[in-house]
Amino acid sequence: MTDSTPRAASHSAVLPTGDWPELLPGWVWLCGAGPGDPGLMTLHGLNALQQADVIVYDALVQKDILAWARPDAELIYAGKRGGKPSAKQQDISLTLVDLAKAGRRVLRLKGGDPFVFGRGGEEAQTLVQHDVPVRIIPGISAGIGGLAYAGIPVTHRDVNQSVTFVTGHDQTGETTNLNWKAISQGSQVLVIYMGMKHIARIAGALLDAGRAADEPVAVVTEATTKNQQVLETTLENVVADIEASDLEPPAIICIGRSVKMRQVLDWQGMLEGKPARNLDPLGRGRPAEER
Ligand code: SAH
Repeated sequence: MTDSTPRAASHSAVLPTGDWPELLPGWVWLCGAGPGDPGLMTLHGLNALQQADVIVYDALVQKDILAWARPDAELIYAGKRGGKPSAKQQDISLTLVDLAKAGRRVLRLKGGDPFVFGRGGEEAQTLVQHDVPVRIIPGISAGIGGLAYAGIPVTHRDVNQSVTFVTGHDQTGETTNLNWKAISQGSQVLVIYMGMKHIARIAGALLDAGRAADEPVAVVTEATTKNQQVLETTLENVVADIEASDLEPPAIICIGRSVKMRQVLDWQGMLEGKPARNLDPLGRGRPAEER
């Protein structure tokens, strides 16, 4: 963990009038910053940024968001950068404890939602175990908001009545020993976090479990940021197509027919003047809302 960081002094974001909670000395607020686009952070998050005197943030938190912090706030980076190993989870939690015990107003800022594959539960538990009071501020998770920015609805009535969020890594950083057969049979749409490293194994397990080789897959990297890229492929081609691309993590991988909806819902493409590719991508043969 290193102290940092230069930032633009633009403490100009305005919070609407309202009865916003006060971040008191000795407290830690654990807050999700959303997947990237600063506009996806919540107003509670902005309220926290405007009060915190120290902010401990992760690699996936966009710098634009940090520019809304108080100009005198101390920014502490707690994530991977430049090939350095990431700060140990327990060290981060204990740093938060120390800062709170020193009477600071502490904001712990994490990408997406702090409780979705973000170890927020562990951090908050450690704080409580050390008698540090916490507040949790949810955020928009990449597996929902990031897919929406790619024009993929995470549920869609013609496609899925369930969705499964899966991590491609377990605590040791290795592939999970999940029951892929059960997952495959139990859920029409799978949303995989941290899946790039082990995509070959994951795709193989799903094919073995009977998912169709031509099932649509989308890989969305740096979702909701200016660098967002989307690769549309299929389960049998996803590995080769990722290899042939220049795509790098962070990536959300969506497996399921809802990926086809992008043909009509790629609203970011529309902003660039691209027309919809297909107004009836699921082949309903009738208007979207006619039963
Ligand atoms: N708490 C976060 C997830 C943290 S795990 C959340 O709710 O979104 C980190 C993983 O999240 C990344 O490896 C990637 O799979 C996903 N992720 C987070 N931000 C992303 C983004 N902007 N674009 C694509 N994937 C993202």
